Amino acid sequence: MSNKTYKGIVLRSVKYGEHDRILTLFTLERGKLSAVAKGAQSPKCKYIASCQSYCLSEFVLSENLKMPYVVSADVVRGFYGLINDPASLIAAGYASELTETCFEEDSPEEAAFMLLYHTLRILEENPGASAITAATAFALKLMGINGTYPVLDQCASCGRKKEKYYFSPQSGGTVCDDCSSPEETERLTSSEAMYLYDLLYKNINDIAGMDAFDGMTRKYLFRTVNEYCVYILGKNIKSSELMYSF
Ligand SMILES: [Zn+2]
Repeated sequence: MSNKTYKGIVLRSVKYGEHDRILTLFTLERGKLSAVAKGAQSPKCKYIASCQSYCLSEFVLSENLKMPYVVSADVVRGFYGLINDPASLIAAGYASELTETCFEEDSPEEAAFMLLYHTLRILEENPGASAITAATAFALKLMGINGTYPVLDQCASCGRKKEKYYFSPQSGGTVCDDCSSPEETERLTSSEAMYLYDLLYKNINDIAGMDAFDGMTRKYLFRTVNEYCVYILGKNIKSSELMYSF
């Protein structure tokens, strides 16, 4: 018998058969891993609270079988307040899907775990307009942890600083007119690019006060960053579509 304890955030919880659920956890100790939560479709399940999306719990997993299963779980922080704000809830879903897409199973990612934890906390504590900004900052910082952050403070090709850039995932970030190729159409002013630069490098705790530009521009900047992530990861992030709905 080998039981191990993990601190884990539920990235996804899906029904499995008539009674069970499969949890995709993002753990501090081992990164992403899947576990069966037996009986978790019944309200009588002792650890049902720990099977909710975004909940951080201490999970005891049995690892005797091919797929680990939950022996017990205790909620550390539920982030239940997310449900009070649709925008925050959608942004939490986006952060979870991006995390799940970015990492392979069984690869510890402590910095990404802390980033996800603090992003969920900020989304819960700051309902309202900050959600899309927090999601944009999360995506940029996750790319930073992944070692694939974009250049935002100069032309990624020639290094010159400009007032206006194109944004080119293929070139690794902002590029000037001279270095852009004809198929590039996404434009960024230098102040928009520097705003994204700040979201990438400033402490996540300062993001809530950093809502700049109007709502349309914030959505445009989010879309630009999300398209960069899609290019880097080679996979679509389905929940990004919902981010434009509020
Ligand atoms: Zn250039």
